Amino acid sequence: MTRPRILSGMRPTGPLHLGNLLGALDNWVQLQDQYDCFYTIVDWHSLTTDYADPSAIRENIVEVAADWLAAGLDPARSVLFVQSQVPEHAELHLLLSMITPAPWLERVPTYKEQQQQLTDRDLSTYGFLGYPLLQTADIIIYKAAAVPVGEDQAPHIELTREIVRRFNNFYGPVFPEPQTLLTPTPRMPGTDGRKMSKSYGNAIYLLDSPETVREKLRPMLTDPARKRRTDPGDPDKCPVFDLHKAFSTRATQDWAAQGCRSAGIGCIDCKMKLAEHLVERLAEIHARRPEYASRPDTVWDILREGASKARETARATMEDVRAAMKIHYA
Ligand code: SF4
Repeated sequence: MTRPRILSGMRPTGPLHLGNLLGALDNWVQLQDQYDCFYTIVDWHSLTTDYADPSAIRENIVEVAADWLAAGLDPARSVLFVQSQVPEHAELHLLLSMITPAPWLERVPTYKEQQQQLTDRDLSTYGFLGYPLLQTADIIIYKAAAVPVGEDQAPHIELTREIVRRFNNFYGPVFPEPQTLLTPTPRMPGTDGRKMSKSYGNAIYLLDSPETVREKLRPMLTDPARKRRTDPGDPDKCPVFDLHKAFSTRATQDWAAQGCRSAGIGCIDCKMKLAEHLVERLAEIHARRPEYASRPDTVWDILREGASKARETARATMEDVRAAMKIHYA
């Protein structure tokens, strides 16, 4: 029986952190058993915001792919590839741009939000406005049935469906409308209590050593009401406890919650217990990662093979698209 196809992607921003693991990667690994999975490292998407300095992209692709492979994405079960190695995405993006009204892109929430947040660069570019459209091309070129995403990305999938309906309405039923496969994303605070993010400098990375994990956790923000060891705390107001909920056993969570509320444990005890669970979770990834991170050629071979599989599907779709749009002249 053919399994439904899904596609998802990540930008090559360098080594992945715990937020990436819980927010996407763990879920992607599970989905390999139920779906025909296409996972892509979207290097062109990086250029929509980091066009002025692309020097790190190549190295970052290897870092992301090494994390993917170490975390359990399996090239024998999933198609793993780099977006720009399947240039058909760009052709479909161009053709979709002919039919997409610019206001549809201007009203995507992240368009204005990111322009306000990333003030150190000029994001009034054509490429930045068009990135949700490129994302649409990434998805529909594989006629994906669904896209696993976090809630923040859901509006993009809605836009994809609108564009698919418009395309099919003009040229006939070429594309299925992809569904949103919502990934449950637990709250994943960084060491300063804000959302874990590479750009905030508050992330714990998959490749961090046990010592680094402990060093990063030691000064981590806790319940601000717990100033002294003798003050009882509220685990529901503590970002450390959010990490316990994601990585510790039920027994440890109960121990931390009870000890916090009764001031029976100190915050350092609590954090070092969390570190034990985190280190255990990362040990498996650490055991596999060097096999890939130290052999970029092997990683590129895997990605090239993935791109060649992806291209077979993408080429077939583009035949359909050109025929539907009456630009098929062979
Ligand atoms: S004991 Fe644990 S849960 Fe309570 S405030 Fe300290 S770190 Fe947070």
